[in-house]
Amino acid sequence: MSSDDEKPKPSRTWNLPLPDGGTLPIEIVSEEEAEKAEAVVCNTTDIPSMLPQSRLAYGNCAWCGKAIYWSRITAPKKPPKVCIHCMIAKGTTH
Ligand SMILES: [Zn+2]
Repeated sequence: MSSDDEKPKPSRTWNLPLPDGGTLPIEIVSEEEAEKAEAVVCNTTDIPSMLPQSRLAYGNCAWCGKAIYWSRITAPKKPPKVCIHCMIAKGTTH
């Protein structure tokens, strides 16, 4: 019970495994929220998928052009899909 906690922590987070052995916590949002997202974070194809091959869709990162994949079932359609590396770079530069 700390008074420093200004906002509640998101209850649904997923730790995305990174190639360097670390993890990146991803907040899981509803489909409606996801459609409004700035971008969808996708794994590059050098990161092993936790999903069966039949559920994956493939494409290229909207920012750097790397080959990426995402879940064809859960990924929102409107936001640009960007690779995890771009998202990390973005997250650490502002
Ligand atoms: Zn990228």
